[in-house]
Amino acid sequence: MKSLLLCLALAAWPVIGEQRGESVAPIALYTQFQQEPPPAVVESLHEELESIMAPMGLHFEWRSLSGSHGNEVSAELAVITFKGRCDTAGLVSRRVNPGALGWTHISDGVILPFSDVDCDRIRGFIQKELLALDHLDRVAAFGRAVGRVVAHELYHIFANTQHHGADGVAKAAYTAQELVADDFQFEEKEMLALRGGKVHALVEHTATGTPPL
Ligand SMILES: [Zn+2]
Repeated sequence: MKSLLLCLALAAWPVIGEQRGESVAPIALYTQFQQEPPPAVVESLHEELESIMAPMGLHFEWRSLSGSHGNEVSAELAVITFKGRCDTAGLVSRRVNPGALGWTHISDGVILPFSDVDCDRIRGFIQKELLALDHLDRVAAFGRAVGRVVAHELYHIFANTQHHGADGVAKAAYTAQELVADDFQFEEKEMLALRGGKVHALVEHTATGTPPL
């Protein structure tokens, strides 16, 4: 019965966006952290991803890759590896231009559901802005920034596209201000792609002037 419901939910994806407020099967996100992040950063990251993706009817269930037994059922999944330190300790007031903040894997043109997010690079890129905030706001802002990079990579996977948007979460490179802003969302075009998109895709980013995603 459970798997039947999941299949129906998956088949209904293209119209989920019109069913406002209706709950659908969550997408499983398997995570592994190089260093265990503080709970407050994790909480902020989860909240930000939900806030960006909920308008498209996409909801997530977070699972630890190491705690997985391989027998869980979900409609769809992605695996995210967080590199470096996902915390706000030891920041210095200097901007480091870091190269790619996150990337998704691609094989023979097929986007795979595997993304990497580089916390060290995100930290280096926005640490000057983070230091201007008090401790609680700083932790929340850093978690939000990481959540935006995660949302960008999941857009490639779940819209199954290497395309970048002209603006919003799907743009090819963020400014530090966009990463720490109170609010940052997808533009309408990419929202439609996520609502109607096939799942499972992958993108590799090459570094350009500003940090690509
Ligand atoms: Zn991208």
